[in-house]
Amino acid sequence: PFDLKGKRVYVAGHRGMVGSALVRRLASEGVELLTVPRAEMDLRNQAAVFDWFAKNRPQAVFFAAAKVGGIVANNTLRAEFIYDNLVQATTVIHAAHMSGAEKLMFLGSSCIYPKLAPQPLREDSMLTGPLEITNEPYAIAKIAGIKMAEAYRSQYGSDFISVMPTNLYGPGDNYHPEYSHVVAALIRRFHEAKVTGAANVVVWGTGTPRREFLYVDDLADACVHLMKTYSSDELVNIGTGEDISIAEFARVVADAVGYTGTISYDHSKPDGTPRKLLDVSRLAQLGWRASTSLKDGIRRAYQAYLREHMQAAE
Ligand code: GDP
Repeated sequence: PFDLKGKRVYVAGHRGMVGSALVRRLASEGVELLTVPRAEMDLRNQAAVFDWFAKNRPQAVFFAAAKVGGIVANNTLRAEFIYDNLVQATTVIHAAHMSGAEKLMFLGSSCIYPKLAPQPLREDSMLTGPLEITNEPYAIAKIAGIKMAEAYRSQYGSDFISVMPTNLYGPGDNYHPEYSHVVAALIRRFHEAKVTGAANVVVWGTGTPRREFLYVDDLADACVHLMKTYSSDELVNIGTGEDISIAEFARVVADAVGYTGTISYDHSKPDGTPRKLLDVSRLAQLGWRASTSLKDGIRRAYQAYLREHMQAAE
């Protein structure tokens, strides 16, 4: 087991939805938390990152930095998604190696699995077939990071591990009307429809794709658990093991928000991959399971949206 207590722990991406959940979770672990504002260290700036790691020598690193977005952001900002994510991953992993970090966790994504891989998605299906085209640049950057962590373990004996979170949501999400993920998009759209008294809300695609959603504080708890107990070059999926169609999901959000109007579907918008459910049996064997139900999580995420929305309006 890897004891986090008293260790210098760096969270890359600490202002993001995942990084800030890790910071909340690590507060009860007795670590010496290291974070750096983006204005002071751009993770794409190799010299700045190498210099910071040499000076601060983190003993454990959570790589939770990423340029992320929903299906339209991934499909539109294709160059930015591959460049930013690839450079951040290679820079931070190599910096951790050079500065002698004892342990690193690389956070990937369920989109690294082939578009038509058998469901639920097992860890060993990575690189067995073509990727979903809308998020291929992001997925390729994440696969490079996973393979890099694996290579450093193999060549240098580094204790670098990789985990694959499913679709995430919760406090600190991005509510951009076009570039957000589906959870944030629908929380905002149903809320605005309720407030303005609109009679209909438009949901993208056909409503038939299925997705698995994990509350981000559950993810942070799983990450800390695996950081302390897991050491292997095999990936570990992190999810709930349950999925839901986008149409059913839209109803869950409408209910949580209190929207009572109709819902229609915009077939001109992409559906993306038909299904993306993780096989979480390895994670279960490792002694962890999700504890927040979708209903509760969406209710909490809506409360967080209202708080963050108020702050933004002030
Ligand atoms: P994906 O899992 O990478 O496809 O990421 P998203 O969270 O962006 O989309 C998940 C599914 O929700 C896709 O089938 C989308 O077409 C669908 N969806 C429905 N309405 C929306 C919306 O307003 N925004 C987004 N981003 N997706 C939506």
